[in-house]
Amino acid sequence: MDLFNHNTSEEGLALASRVDPQYAPVWQDKPPQEQTALAMYFLPHGSKKSVLSPTRPRVIKWYCPFANQHSFSSGHRYCINVYTGCAHSCEYCYAAAYELPHPDVKRDFAKLLEKDLADLERFDVPSAPIHLSNSTDPFQPLEATAGHTRLALQELLAHRRRFTSVVVLTKNPRLAVESGCVDLFRKLDSSRAQFLIEVSLAFWREDARQLYDSGAPSIQDRTESIRQLCREGVRVVLRIDPLFPSSPLSGKTAPAATYQDFGLPLPQTLDDLEQLVTFAREAGVQHVVYSPAKIVQPRMRQLSPVMRRMRSLYEFVAAPERLTFRGGSWRLPPAVQSDVTGRLLAICRRHGVPAKCCKQNLIETP
Ligand code: SF4
Repeated sequence: MDLFNHNTSEEGLALASRVDPQYAPVWQDKPPQEQTALAMYFLPHGSKKSVLSPTRPRVIKWYCPFANQHSFSSGHRYCINVYTGCAHSCEYCYAAAYELPHPDVKRDFAKLLEKDLADLERFDVPSAPIHLSNSTDPFQPLEATAGHTRLALQELLAHRRRFTSVVVLTKNPRLAVESGCVDLFRKLDSSRAQFLIEVSLAFWREDARQLYDSGAPSIQDRTESIRQLCREGVRVVLRIDPLFPSSPLSGKTAPAATYQDFGLPLPQTLDDLEQLVTFAREAGVQHVVYSPAKIVQPRMRQLSPVMRRMRSLYEFVAAPERLTFRGGSWRLPPAVQSDVTGRLLAICRRHGVPAKCCKQNLIETP
């Protein structure tokens, strides 16, 4: 072992011994060389703190900086949030809990990405999955002028062996197609390592789509682009996500009610879900991903009028139990969540379409 590697190894192991116990499952069973590499890449080098969190890299970050690995075992994986904020303005946006909505580019994105990739090589960090993006849509309209997603995918391709899989999540697959990214998607996919594009489409009627994800492309726009991607051999996952309670709303402490009683259009009928799953099967997507909708408290803002009404509706459906507030959002009791997801699962089973909940989908993407 040369002096550089010896010193790096000593420094890395010393850093790894200070990692916050909530991230320990990612480190603890790895051989010393991998612990060193992870520590040198993820942990701050000059910090005087006795307990370290994975915060150092610039653009290619720890998958979920809030996740306690004992309760959410996302493991060693990365995320690039290509932009800040998002133009789609979804009412249920989970990122609103910690991000401001105004879409913008990241300063020096290309330079910082290059530095992170150089560090992955320099420290010989073992390969892991990478996701674009958790907190923004990488193919929102800004991409048409800034092109940072395309740039990031080209760079990932140049360092492909550092990533076991590349996953892109978007509501705007048309821009991916029209900006000529399909060829890149195919190159990123191989028999050893997957490329997946996850497209979110939770609604089947425009009136629901226009209220709940008002800034996102139309349903037809998304379905046409999904079909095209599948035809061109790209692996597509359909996210029928999030799912809302069915109507009539069966309150246990009051007579049944409807969405109209709360001043809201019905997000998803049983027939909508049937149409979405039929579409998934016919288009040839890999599988469907789902999760129950949460009411997200936006950072430094009030709940929107729509979500205020939705929270009242959730309280009605949950009664006599109460909503749980966790991780910046209100959640339905587990039994109600099972009802919400159960009707989609029954339809998927009937159509022979595999379905995974959001967390399972993440953990099973190797
Ligand atoms: S597309 Fe995703 S990140 Fe953008 S507003 Fe909708 S939920 Fe939030």
